[in-house]
Amino acid sequence: MAVTKMQGWSDFTDRLWNRLPLHLRRFIVSMTVFIMGSTVRGEWFLFWIYYRKAFGDHPTTKHASVPNGTTISPSENPWLFNLDDICLQGLGFYWLWATTVSFAIYLLSGAFLHWHFYIRQRDRASEWKCQPTKFPSSETIREEVLLGSSSLLLASSITGVVACYVMNGGKCTIYYRVEDYGWSWLILSVPVVFLWQDYLTYWAHRIYHHPFLYRHFHKIHHKFKHPTAFSAVAFHPVELFTLQAILFSPMFLYPVHWTIFVGSLAYNYYHGIVDHSGVTFEAQWWQPWQPDAMFHDNHHQYTFVNFGVNCKYWDKIHGTDKRKTRRP
Ligand SMILES: [Zn+2]
Ligand SMILES: [Zn+2]
Repeated sequence: MAVTKMQGWSDFTDRLWNRLPLHLRRFIVSMTVFIMGSTVRGEWFLFWIYYRKAFGDHPTTKHASVPNGTTISPSENPWLFNLDDICLQGLGFYWLWATTVSFAIYLLSGAFLHWHFYIRQRDRASEWKCQPTKFPSSETIREEVLLGSSSLLLASSITGVVACYVMNGGKCTIYYRVEDYGWSWLILSVPVVFLWQDYLTYWAHRIYHHPFLYRHFHKIHHKFKHPTAFSAVAFHPVELFTLQAILFSPMFLYPVHWTIFVGSLAYNYYHGIVDHSGVTFEAQWWQPWQPDAMFHDNHHQYTFVNFGVNCKYWDKIHGTDKRKTRRP
């Protein structure tokens, strides 16, 4: 009975979905990937914080009020040290929002993408799947979701801490007015931030393939030979922290306008979902540097090739692109 009901529900949603125009369906899928990519580690909250600071909310001292306008006096402070002194006043509020929204988006968007591709179009896998004859087992998908969820908790907690720190006036090199460093630097900083994050990520990933680091940290991500979007955050906590530190590093090292920094995070996380989706998403005409999703899918399939993330040239330059089999 339950199976019949489930089948009925599945047929109903399928019919409903098929009634939508093709371009609208494609738009919804792209938006789902984008929303999942730009929220899954809690960075949506960082965007919001920068936006607030750029358009009016400028706490200039470390003693800013918590978001609801109240302040915490030292006697009420349950922590061993005063969070106010390290620009983390109201941390619980930031942490709660960063983690709960991230979880909700991760599970909802991931489930939608899974339904759209892996259930609805399973019998047409050759039309959309990077590895059309290979599907992860339900046990593997469960592991992806479990590991992804625990990693997500860590990643969104880090983002919550950073967002709280920035909002309370903590030191960083983000700036909000273009005139502070001029248009030339604003434009130049786009490739600088991109190359900085991407080249460091290439090397971090490659170093994590050193036998010792691979065995202890990176191997867990390679458990997923036929990745789905759920595995985009399925890393060992140590590796996840490394990758997040690289992505966040510009905001503590050199001047970067908040929109450029936010754009770089959104770009990175969006392609993180695309690259792990297992779907043959292709780079757009305006992204000649960007590999197709097949590039990273090949990394999961062949393990010791294609270490790059958002620039296909690093592997070509260093001779680690697909077809090479040497171990770094
Ligand atoms: Zn790897
Ligand atoms: Zn991967």
